[in-house]
Amino acid sequence: MATGCLFCNIVARTVPAQIVIENDHVVVFKDIRPMAPTHVLVIPRKHVIGIHEAGAEDVALLGHVLLAARDAAEKLGLGESGYRLVLNSGLDAGQSVFHLHCHVIGGRPLAWPPG
Ligand code: AMP
Ligand code: ZN
Repeated sequence: MATGCLFCNIVARTVPAQIVIENDHVVVFKDIRPMAPTHVLVIPRKHVIGIHEAGAEDVALLGHVLLAARDAAEKLGLGESGYRLVLNSGLDAGQSVFHLHCHVIGGRPLAWPPG
């Protein structure tokens, strides 16, 4: 728990969120500014700043994030149509919340390459 971290506060339930899935390792909730018909965020309960700051001790945590992203996509009906997982790291990528999160985006065709 990092004091003042928005996503730690969502984990602690002191900030409300529309939670889709949670387990011992992660919480999945709806993005407050969806970029597509389906847009959720997968966050580890543990405060890790981002993928670039993750350490060897976070290997299992990262696996839990990816599998929960897959499970959320399936639960939200994206299994057949497909979806995109995104981890923004740092300023050029537009990371705005410094608690690791994986975007799960789908429900429409997604352009490639990204902007
Ligand atoms: P990023 O730009 O990769 O750091 O993504 C941060 C994401 O968090 C953005 O898509 C925001 O819309 C989303 N976000 C910010 N505050 C909240 C919140 N209180 N509840 C849900 N999503 C949020
Ligand atoms: Zn945090």
